Amino acid sequence: MTDEIPENEGAGRRKLPGAGLAQGLATTFKTMVTKSHTRQYPDVAPELPPRTRGVIALIEENCTSCMLCARECPDWCIYIDSHKETIPAPTAGGRERSRNVLDRFAIDFSLCMYCGICIEVCPFDALEWSPEFEYAEYDIREMLHEKPRLGQWVESVPPPPALDDAAEDPKEISLAQKAAAKKQAALDAAAQQEGTADGDA
Ligand code: SF4
Ligand code: SF4
Repeated sequence: MTDEIPENEGAGRRKLPGAGLAQGLATTFKTMVTKSHTRQYPDVAPELPPRTRGVIALIEENCTSCMLCARECPDWCIYIDSHKETIPAPTAGGRERSRNVLDRFAIDFSLCMYCGICIEVCPFDALEWSPEFEYAEYDIREMLHEKPRLGQWVESVPPPPALDDAAEDPKEISLAQKAAAKKQAALDAAAQQEGTADGDA
């Protein structure tokens, strides 16, 4: 069975000739008189959100060469070389210890997709986002940033946002506060004892 289309259906929706043209011209005119949002970059620097993912900065002192970031990077664009160094025992008869020394840390930004996984997984906060983005190169090989260059980006890393007022203090702070309160209580008790001894004398 076929549906019959009424002869006059749609007649009420017919537009006047030239109505589409008039509507198009009205849109063009409206756009012409609306304030433009074009930013005059590079003459005017863009106002970027503080946590913009521009480039990755490396805080070398925090890096333990654990390789976690390189293993988790979906693009395999983090290159790390390190060697082990033996630290002599601090006391006679003690055990020697070993630690990793970072020889090379590089990120190839021509491959990086700015997912931030490496920053999230780093257990030592050695990687941070910097909002810097002006590092385009004519030669793609220059997009491989080695350790010194990654370290230079640290200067532009914004400070972390303040904690929420209702947030609990970090564990380290509450432990330090407890230790300080305990020490103060011991000092007060000692001072009180001393005062009592002086009074008795
Ligand atoms: S941001 Fe993502 S792709 Fe880029 S280096 Fe980190 S993990 Fe790899
Ligand atoms: S995860 Fe962090 S500490 Fe481990 S190698 Fe990467 S940057 Fe260094």
